[in-house]
Amino acid sequence: MRNLIIVGSGPAGYTAAVYAARANLEPLVFEGSVTAGGALMNTTEVENFPGFRDGIMGPDLMEQMRAQAERFGAELVRDDVTAMELTGDIKTVTDGEGNVHKAHAVILAMGSAYRELGLEDEKRLSGHGVSWCATCDGAFFRDKDIAVVGGGDSAVEEATFLTRFGKSVTMIHRRDELRASKIMAERALSNDKIRFAWNSEVVGITGDSKVEKLTLRDTVTGDTSELEVSGLFVAIGHIPRSELVVGQVETDGEGYVLVQGRSTHTNIPGVFACGDLVDHTYRQAITAAGSGCAASLDAERYLADTV
Ligand code: FAD
Repeated sequence: MRNLIIVGSGPAGYTAAVYAARANLEPLVFEGSVTAGGALMNTTEVENFPGFRDGIMGPDLMEQMRAQAERFGAELVRDDVTAMELTGDIKTVTDGEGNVHKAHAVILAMGSAYRELGLEDEKRLSGHGVSWCATCDGAFFRDKDIAVVGGGDSAVEEATFLTRFGKSVTMIHRRDELRASKIMAERALSNDKIRFAWNSEVVGITGDSKVEKLTLRDTVTGDTSELEVSGLFVAIGHIPRSELVVGQVETDGEGYVLVQGRSTHTNIPGVFACGDLVDHTYRQAITAAGSGCAASLDAERYLADTV
């Protein structure tokens, strides 16, 4: 019987592991088999994580967090969790080999995947012009031509933010009007730097080592055209990885796990959630790490009171 199992290995899971290990809770951490280390494993330079004046490569940052958790005695396992039974006092977590692990408390830190376009060159050029986060990568595109795919509030927010850096920002949208709320849409339409490729979808990304141009297809006529850009920001939504706990833990309409107030308590006693799995709004490494810390402190207090 464990005190605590942590599911997820991004900034939220590793930070929870550092705090829990330092509190002698001897946490067992499932990192995932393919995606261990979380979303930052897919990026290059991270310039906005405090403590690294000259920036740090995403994978190096995650390796540091992992080593820090291990140093204090967290047990880290590069395996997927395939099932969880969370409702009773004793929680069970099943790993990829079918072994069942028991614990008094569980921290959910499975993150949230960015929705992808599904194009062949999208992954290859990720971190080399293709991005899912304007706050993270916008500053790399000073005076460049940029494209944003999407037509909702997030896409408008990304495009508007990118006008601070880019020479131009082209919003590429499948329809002939934005899906964003009226006020957001008006903000985009009145911004001189934002152009629109209506009724358009990206069907190709070209560039050897970085993005050079996009191939667009007109969704009405089927005609194709090319757009020269240095950056492509994909803003077509997120998929919180709550699939294993939906039906036990309360989630909102989009699948984000709901927590109580500013805490990390879910609706189930002894189950805590943190990071991008709960966060519609900020979705940054530092905010994920902060909520991982909070989850560990909440779990520590729960265990002190109940076990
Ligand atoms: P994640 O980092 O998504 O980690 C969750 C991990 O949990 C998964 O990857 C997986 O390994 C594991 N997991 C999931 N399900 C299971 C399971 N069933 N069993 C076991 N393990 C599981 N933010 C910044 O602050 N600065 C940046 O410069 C920046 N750049 C980014 C660049 C890219 C390309 C991307 C995609 C994101 C970037 N972000 C950046 C955002 C940042 O990466 C996320 O906000 C942050 O990683 C969220 O942390 P998390 O711990 O909640 O989840």
